[in-house]
Amino acid sequence: MAATTLKGQPLDRPVLDSMLRRRMFYTPSFEIYGGVAGLYDYGPPGCALLANVTDIWRKHFVLEEDMLEVDCTALTPAEVLKTSGHVDKFADWMCKDPKNGEILRADHFVEEVLEARLKGDKEARGVKIEEKEEDPKKKKRKVKATTAVKLDDAVVKEYEEVLAKIDNYNGEELGQLIKKYELKNPNTGVEPSPPVAFNLMFQTSIGPSSNAPGYLRPETAQGQFLNFAKLLEFNQHQMPFASASIGKSFRNEISPRAGLLRVREFLMAEIEHYVDPEGGKKHARFDEVKDVELVLLNRHTQLAGQTHVEKVSIGKAVADGTVDNETLGYFLARIQLFLEKIGVDQSKLRFRQHMANEMAHYAADCWDAELLTSYGWVECVGCADRSAYDLTVHAKKTGAPLVVRQRLEKPISVEEWQIELDKKKFGPHFKKDGKTVEAAIEALPQEKREVLAKELESTGKIIIDVEGVGNGKVEVSKDLIVIERRTRVENTREFTPNVIEPSFGLGRILYALIEHNYWTRGSEGGDEARGVLSFPPPVAPTKVLLVPLSSHESFKPLLKHMSNKLRTLGVSSRVDDSSASIGKRYSRNDELGTPLGITIDFQSVKDSTYTLRDRDSTKQVRADEDKILAAIKSLVEGTKVWADIEKELPAFEGQDAEVPIR
Ligand code: AMP
Repeated sequence: MAATTLKGQPLDRPVLDSMLRRRMFYTPSFEIYGGVAGLYDYGPPGCALLANVTDIWRKHFVLEEDMLEVDCTALTPAEVLKTSGHVDKFADWMCKDPKNGEILRADHFVEEVLEARLKGDKEARGVKIEEKEEDPKKKKRKVKATTAVKLDDAVVKEYEEVLAKIDNYNGEELGQLIKKYELKNPNTGVEPSPPVAFNLMFQTSIGPSSNAPGYLRPETAQGQFLNFAKLLEFNQHQMPFASASIGKSFRNEISPRAGLLRVREFLMAEIEHYVDPEGGKKHARFDEVKDVELVLLNRHTQLAGQTHVEKVSIGKAVADGTVDNETLGYFLARIQLFLEKIGVDQSKLRFRQHMANEMAHYAADCWDAELLTSYGWVECVGCADRSAYDLTVHAKKTGAPLVVRQRLEKPISVEEWQIELDKKKFGPHFKKDGKTVEAAIEALPQEKREVLAKELESTGKIIIDVEGVGNGKVEVSKDLIVIERRTRVENTREFTPNVIEPSFGLGRILYALIEHNYWTRGSEGGDEARGVLSFPPPVAPTKVLLVPLSSHESFKPLLKHMSNKLRTLGVSSRVDDSSASIGKRYSRNDELGTPLGITIDFQSVKDSTYTLRDRDSTKQVRADEDKILAAIKSLVEGTKVWADIEKELPAFEGQDAEVPIR
């Protein structure tokens, strides 16, 4: 599918890019020093847009669900990320071109060359080539034009299958694909070196000595996990609950190229929802979303080498097991509703399930919300069931009890193998090793205790492993120990919660939102086509443009008055009192996505009425100050849309866009 704009025109990305830079939505960081790949600064409209998206996120998730927000540090001791598995596993596969030293991300390289071959095949067959739809959070390198070479049908099928499951290959498998298909770097004609793992974290040391290694966090999640016990207490030990965090994360991406989509420092918004693993991970509010329909690309389809999707209600997807559980399903639906609210084009949204190898080994299920952009489908939100992994590993490493203890309504009897030591004899017998031997005995698991009980009965002694005592084997005789099956009454239940984690990359969402809301409009006055960003009013960077008809003195007090009124309402506005025509002034602000415009004319001076213009339709209404302000407020808060305002207030045809300046 070709990337198109809101109004169905093909997207001209260079034109959009230059508009976004000219209007300073974002700009390469350190540009006058030559810039650094994957680092961008946001300018005023970019900052306002990001702040508005973040604000809606906070209301949609944190406020709506009473989540506990935390703000943890980005600097993280190495030990934490070693325990979480990031030091060993948070890596991408990287190859090097032996001829020119170019560094390639292995999966992107395989994808790129196979896609180029498929394109060459289509050309040779005379098939019309549509704009790319590769997975394409990933690329873009300049690749030499492909030569039109026809491939066997079986080869085409094989390539397509490889591409459909490209995220499922490990480094070794990618290396095999490079060899098998003789994939050469298009820039040199040389086969790159076998893939090696490249860790994506930025390493540093904390403090002046170099013996406190640390990393910049690659996600906000770990800080949330480490605060689990305190948050549980803050929540008065009530389960389930969720923590949330908005903050910067850092990843040393191998070769970032797709603008804001793949950067080395980015804003994340993450939720860690803690749920009892027993009882099927139900969600109390699942009923509210069960009829929301989602477009799903499941893992079986991808493993079969295909990419077709199905549209199903989340209720059905959970019931038939496509989505693992209600809580995961609840969040998938809520993610879709959030994206809809901020103005993401729903026809360019799909949820793609991770294939087995793509998922972390501990994850129970994982889905990405992907948005279609001119770079192809891009993962913008990941939503994973991380099971009890994180809390378990941190608890094991630190000894902190990252568990939930619940009082049981009905106490339960537990039958188990219990050990009793004769303390009077045990201490004197083992002397200085007494405590170590005792600890080793206490730590014996149930199955082992059962075996030892039999051994004790038949031989009158047991031999156990105790590290650091004698030769590591310790004999305990019958007069020191009793091992028996006994019944214990339990009043509390202890468990490690499972975690469902929706993880949002706000920069990616912002870029997709821009593409989805961008279109061009031919100017009535015959000027060149101008870009329009049709953001919904609640997310638009500036809400109102104030335009005096001319520089006439009588308009000045009204301008000041209306600016103040809007400021008091908390509505952002800008004045454009330049000498350009009204039409030009409006179209300049269409590029910034400003949804509303107020014109101040001679009639305003006489009777305090104003015209209000809608960015998308360019239609205008006219009414007195109070009605205009009330209309603006309702539009900006999202309680009304322009069609409602048109019904309520009289249309105004007079003061048109091209009235010359006096
Ligand atoms: P992950 O933890 O890899 O699933 O990433 C979570 C989210 O962070 C993704 O869905 C993206 O929206 C975002 N993200 C990950 N890597 C990058 C990057 N290099 N640049 C921008 N956003 C990213």
